[in-house]
Amino acid sequence: MNPYVLKYGGTSVESIDQIKDVAKRLAERKSLGQDLVVVISAMGQTTDQLLELAASISETPDRREVDLLLATGEQVSVALLSIALKTLGVNSVGLTGRQAGIFTDDVHTKARISRIETDRIRQHLEAGEIVVVAGFQGVNENGDITTLGRGGSDTSAVSLAAALGCTCELFTDVDGIYTVDPKILPEARKLDSISYEEMLEMASRGAKVIETRAVEFAHKYKVPVIVGLSTGDYPGTLIKELDETMEKRVVTGISVDEDCLMVTVNTVPFESKNIAKIFAAISGENIMIDMISQTAPYNSFVNLTFTSKIEDRFNIKAILEKLKAEFPTIDYVIDDSVIKLSVVGIGMVSQSGVASALFNLFAEHDIDFYQVTTSEISISYTLNAYDRDKAVHMIASAFDL
Ligand code: ADP
Ligand code: ASP
Ligand code: MG
Repeated sequence: MNPYVLKYGGTSVESIDQIKDVAKRLAERKSLGQDLVVVISAMGQTTDQLLELAASISETPDRREVDLLLATGEQVSVALLSIALKTLGVNSVGLTGRQAGIFTDDVHTKARISRIETDRIRQHLEAGEIVVVAGFQGVNENGDITTLGRGGSDTSAVSLAAALGCTCELFTDVDGIYTVDPKILPEARKLDSISYEEMLEMASRGAKVIETRAVEFAHKYKVPVIVGLSTGDYPGTLIKELDETMEKRVVTGISVDEDCLMVTVNTVPFESKNIAKIFAAISGENIMIDMISQTAPYNSFVNLTFTSKIEDRFNIKAILEKLKAEFPTIDYVIDDSVIKLSVVGIGMVSQSGVASALFNLFAEHDIDFYQVTTSEISISYTLNAYDRDKAVHMIASAFDL
């Protein structure tokens, strides 16, 4: 078998014409003798529209039912692509996540893939069919439909490539990974390759060109991933193991997370068990948080700040309201007017001075930031959304991005 896993994102299947184009390109590749597994996302903005429908009924809709709703988006595009392929005379079969053997845990709306049974996919490939699989969805051990979190079709594709032992090609509306999102900085440069480590850092800090867990999977199972334009007209960017040329770059790119919330919880009685209780309540709802900071105690109270995703706003509010019953002194602010800007580069491990250069730049350009945190290969700031372009431009020109 000569399998390839290809994934087309929602931006590549927005219209029937685009779906027909994808079908034509798949037919060409099939005629070259390739065995194709095609993971596909919901058309265009479908997932957002489905979420809006649920939100028009409840701020915190039941997550099992949300999964049932969201999974329909990918089923529509799978069926349409398979119909388009058959109309071209190409043998194909469309499969839901369950039919494709994608099993997950039962954390609805943020499920993790636990195993993939590839028998059925392999049988269809052996029968000469193109296998079109619904991205973003799986099934838990009770047989309930789950979804993998926003952007999760990337994770479906990379996991299938890991299970089949092949390369994964992610097709989207950009021709590769750029130093900065080209929608924010049109003059950003395209990278020929990027290490798994840097891509993980860029993705987890907001570069939504590829989903974070997809990079984690790719790194763990050493899946080479190519990100490129859906027309396949230009060479894309290869995500792979670190090599010497990459280590020379001090700063590789900037990520901007605009779907960011900064949550501040004030006047928490100073005792570590209280802090543990607050974070346990948040993690109990599977909410991802980042950039945690705490002030030194003052009058036996501390203030906490952390960042989270905008989609968790109502859940965080509900949790903090409940905590207020236990800790009547606390009050909180959920601020959605900030962004998280992160400067990423593997060269920071061995070269000093990046943090100091950045602090100087912020001062010179009179941009204030609220928080700063560092990892071995990144420095992140929260700042006002209206300072986004100014901050990105000053950093990009200082580091030649
Ligand atoms: P898809 O529907 O194909 O999954 P997405 O919208 O999820 O597409 O991701 C593609 C988008 O990611 C691009 O349109 C681009 O604006 C954005 N993006 C963010 N950061 C980067 C980056 N560093 N390089 C390229 N694209 C980026
Ligand atoms: N349709 C899902 C989303 O919009 C999954 C994906 O596109 O990867 O998040
Ligand atoms: Mg995406």
